[in-house]
Amino acid sequence: MRETVVEVFSSLQGEGPYVGYRQVFVRFSGCNLRCHYCDTTESFQYDKAARIEKSAGSGQFNFIPNPLAIYDLAGYVNQLLILRHHSVSLTGGEPLCHTSAIKELAPFIEIPLYLETNGVLVDELNEVLSLIHIISMDIKLPSSTGQDYFSSHRRFLKLAAHKEVFVKIVLSNQSSQGEFAEALSVIADVNKSIPLILQPVTTHDEREKLSTTKLLTFFEMALECLEHVRIIPQMHHLLNIL
Ligand code: SF4
Repeated sequence: MRETVVEVFSSLQGEGPYVGYRQVFVRFSGCNLRCHYCDTTESFQYDKAARIEKSAGSGQFNFIPNPLAIYDLAGYVNQLLILRHHSVSLTGGEPLCHTSAIKELAPFIEIPLYLETNGVLVDELNEVLSLIHIISMDIKLPSSTGQDYFSSHRRFLKLAAHKEVFVKIVLSNQSSQGEFAEALSVIADVNKSIPLILQPVTTHDEREKLSTTKLLTFFEMALECLEHVRIIPQMHHLLNIL
């Protein structure tokens, strides 16, 4: 089969507990949500060509016409894996919009697969769960998307808990304590020991930025009901990496 891919490159994981690990990223196109703070909106459009990094860390790219044959995609990934990496990150957009491609790609990859997902597509997760080693699951607050996805998040997390999983919540000045409390109950009801990462939104818009006081209030709330809670901001911008 063939799949539309935005880019394949080597970089460092910039979010969550695996921050700083070297990964090869496969960015799929398209997303089922529209978060107001999204920083990968370029992945929503159909790209005529995929950006494929020539060698790991070179920052130089070939542009290969989309859609890519999965066999070729696997070749591009493995070419970067000549250097040592921790895992291959399936990201987007929303990678679970591409389960057929993931199923076909997985057998070619010999290191762990790390899924970065918005945590909504339950049936799709079920399709690929056996192939995935680590799940980075977002819980999207209604203030981020304009929709309430708690019911889907609950079912998704129950399924994801069969694997190594952590939850990430992006917090902005628009986040409310009521919706945050509901997100906490989703996690606590599945397993209080699932790690939760609070990630302050990365933005230049001063109205969106979260104050430290508000961030620490959310932190205290989370510590009341979960065992492993950390505040970890996005690191890409600090390190000026992809
Ligand atoms: S789920 Fe992720 S990729 Fe999709 S709109 Fe939200 S932030 Fe962007």
